[in-house]
Amino acid sequence: MTRPAPDTAHWINTLISRFPELLTSLAPGSRPSTTGRRAASVSPSLPVQLHISDALRDITDGVIELDEAVHERLGLGRPRRARVPQRLIRIASLLDAVAAHPDLAEHVRDEARRMARRCAHALGDSEAVLRLPGRCPRCDSVSLRAFPDRRAVLCVNPACRCGDGDCACGTDPAHRHIWQESQWAALAEHGIDGSVIRAALDTGAGGAAR
Ligand SMILES: [Zn+2]
Ligand SMILES: [Zn+2]
Repeated sequence: MTRPAPDTAHWINTLISRFPELLTSLAPGSRPSTTGRRAASVSPSLPVQLHISDALRDITDGVIELDEAVHERLGLGRPRRARVPQRLIRIASLLDAVAAHPDLAEHVRDEARRMARRCAHALGDSEAVLRLPGRCPRCDSVSLRAFPDRRAVLCVNPACRCGDGDCACGTDPAHRHIWQESQWAALAEHGIDGSVIRAALDTGAGGAAR
């Protein structure tokens, strides 16, 4: 059995936390969202409203379709009607079972990533990225970046492949090889110390919360 792609849960959690900001942004005369994120700075002018309502519709439809596809494939029958965040929580709770079906797991990851990015773009932000010193142990490029939102290190060289059959960087052109915190020891062997990574992530996280 294959393990769940490590970033699928990240994308779903991102959507769960940020989707409500879309609703807040759409409300006329919306006040800063209670989560204090940057959505508050988007003024509810008409083009922004359309941009956001398009994203809302796209993500709502996408989450319903994904929930139904997962249930059907796992033989769980038709999922009960629920709001988008509840459906996302339900999908997240099924990720271990989803991982037993590699094509389904790939679909769930791709959709979760696409919708999380759509949501972030509609809210007007891009993910914080910090350049790390040193070279990628796989491709030897100066291409390692720390992503505070994910607490992870990625090699952003599109040509980088680790050669591990379980890793999506070999099969998915949009996937970048990722080192979760538990794998940073492998980077330390190549001179990229965990304390340097943590310092970069903490700086980035502080910046993102402003
Ligand atoms: Zn690389
Ligand atoms: Zn890889």
